[in-house]
Amino acid sequence: MAKRRPLVAGNWKMNGVKASIAEFGRICEGYDHALRAKVDLLVAPPATLLSTLAVVALGSRIAIAGQDCHPNPNGAHTGDLSAEMIADTGASAVIVGHSERRADHGETDARVRAKVEAAWSAGLTAIVCIGESRDEHIAGRTLQVVRHQLTASLPEGVTGADTVIAYEPIWAIGTGLTPTTHDIAEVHKAIRHALVARFGAQAQAVRLLYGGSVKPENAGEILSIADVDGALVGGASLKADTFLPIARAY
Ligand code: PGA
Repeated sequence: MAKRRPLVAGNWKMNGVKASIAEFGRICEGYDHALRAKVDLLVAPPATLLSTLAVVALGSRIAIAGQDCHPNPNGAHTGDLSAEMIADTGASAVIVGHSERRADHGETDARVRAKVEAAWSAGLTAIVCIGESRDEHIAGRTLQVVRHQLTASLPEGVTGADTVIAYEPIWAIGTGLTPTTHDIAEVHKAIRHALVARFGAQAQAVRLLYGGSVKPENAGEILSIADVDGALVGGASLKADTFLPIARAY
């Protein structure tokens, strides 16, 4: 199996103002030589902080990401940001298809797919989120839902360099609930299998993150699961004191 470098990514969501720059500075300081040797670190702040954090991150090797992009390169789309604009801030990646975007903005798989293509065109790595709802989980439809989202949300030509997949069960986001390690392992194995079946051996290099209530207390257990190449962290990514211990769990 191809060796994949672990990635711990923080999604700040709609949190963070100028006062948060100092906290990001603490995250950069804590990303020391020993940690850099083991794991990649990425932070996705709100769009208002992208340019500033990209400058603060210089020299730290922490990657900066947007939380969403518009599928079009420019035009009459008030309030939206193109992938090129995100790249222009100094960011190297963008999250697309987060369940909160899918729910709050009615984003379909087809739209997510178009956003992935826009991200690639702008030279950004797309961090594509998929995951089942609580009802789908209870009904035992997790694998079916995840496989379908994967198929419909990804364009042709996925490689490890341009795409990261984040499996985030919606019922685990911000709830303190997490699937069993057995369930996470099963879903990640199914995702890897589906990726390789469609994109061939190059899909072995695509990193698969788990997201949903990852905390310092459960990071060690979750990150040691086979085929889990890292985590997408929401709430616990806002503070260096909780974000760095998750990365150190490696
Ligand atoms: P959480 O969010 O860690 O706060 O559960 C994860 C996410 O939505 O990416």
